[in-house]
Amino acid sequence: MTDIRLAIRDITVRSVLVPLARPLATRVVTIEQAPLLLLDLYTEEGVTGRTYLFGYTARGSVHMAALLHDILAMTRGDRVAPVDLFAKATKGLTLMGHQGLAAMAVSGFDVACWDALARAAGVPLVTLLGGRQRPILAYNSNGLGLIAPEAAADQAQALLAEGGFEAVKIRLGRATLAEDLAALRAVRKAVGDNVLLPCDFNQGLSVAEAVRRGRALDGEGVHWIEEPIVYDDLEGCAKIAREVATPIQIGENFYGPRAMAEAIAARAADYMMPDLERIGGVTGWLRAAALAEAANIELSSHIFPEVSCHLLAVTPTRHLLEYVDWAAPILADPLRVENGQVEIPDVPGTGIAWNEDAVAKFAVEL
Ligand SMILES: [Mg+2]
Repeated sequence: MTDIRLAIRDITVRSVLVPLARPLATRVVTIEQAPLLLLDLYTEEGVTGRTYLFGYTARGSVHMAALLHDILAMTRGDRVAPVDLFAKATKGLTLMGHQGLAAMAVSGFDVACWDALARAAGVPLVTLLGGRQRPILAYNSNGLGLIAPEAAADQAQALLAEGGFEAVKIRLGRATLAEDLAALRAVRKAVGDNVLLPCDFNQGLSVAEAVRRGRALDGEGVHWIEEPIVYDDLEGCAKIAREVATPIQIGENFYGPRAMAEAIAARAADYMMPDLERIGGVTGWLRAAALAEAANIELSSHIFPEVSCHLLAVTPTRHLLEYVDWAAPILADPLRVENGQVEIPDVPGTGIAWNEDAVAKFAVEL
């Protein structure tokens, strides 16, 4: 590898609204379209780093775009040294806070910087990070919202068949425990005993209800219980983790590694699953992975499978990758899954490149 020197020239952001192949109804929200913000970071040397951010709400991408323009203003001409730039961008936005939209914008900027660096080096991101390409075990998370038991059973089988998956996530949090159990049992009956069934309450329960439903799930063989209650009630999560035998999973709403350190200190969960856009991009993920190793906690990923596969490959306590195909329609070369495992693309960078025709089709004004 030669000395890689890149300087930031420009950033462009584009907003797209991509219909989901399978709309996702959760306890708190129904998602039918993915609002994605496509980020291109141009360097003076002609190398372009890319990633996308998830806007969550219709206007989310607009706010992140504005913050990315602020980050460009403070880093234009700087050398692409992601660790330094992460610190600079975070400091530059510090009065906007270290959470929420500011953290998301810094995370996206960080991923694009790392991607540019790996492209300039001519290696996959995982190689730049000191790891190697390996198949990453994944579960299919593309559906199984709060639908009727028979529909859930059919959809679970379809989701498993799509990429040879042996794990699929089911959303819970129906009006009653009995309804949750009916759906879960229908799915279990359809998929057999060996399939892993992580389940997600999407923050929808009270602590008392989470303990009640969690204990009922203890006999059902679910792989984990995800976000039973509001994400930032660590004390409540710790109580549930103590009183429920099934592993509790949280982490997609950790803003930066410090939030994860606090959750570990509170013994808030058995498993953790940082989100690329909230944990601090590649830089934040690597620090979270070190915390997970030190605490001996299995680490999974949250959405963004295209980048997360590189990161899980260098995560000592690597657990499961959450596979979603939400960005696939606007990618030139969507991620491939075989036998339930994601292949890390053998191309420089993360492998993210745009399908410009699809981008034009799904474009929305910023
Ligand atoms: Mg979740």
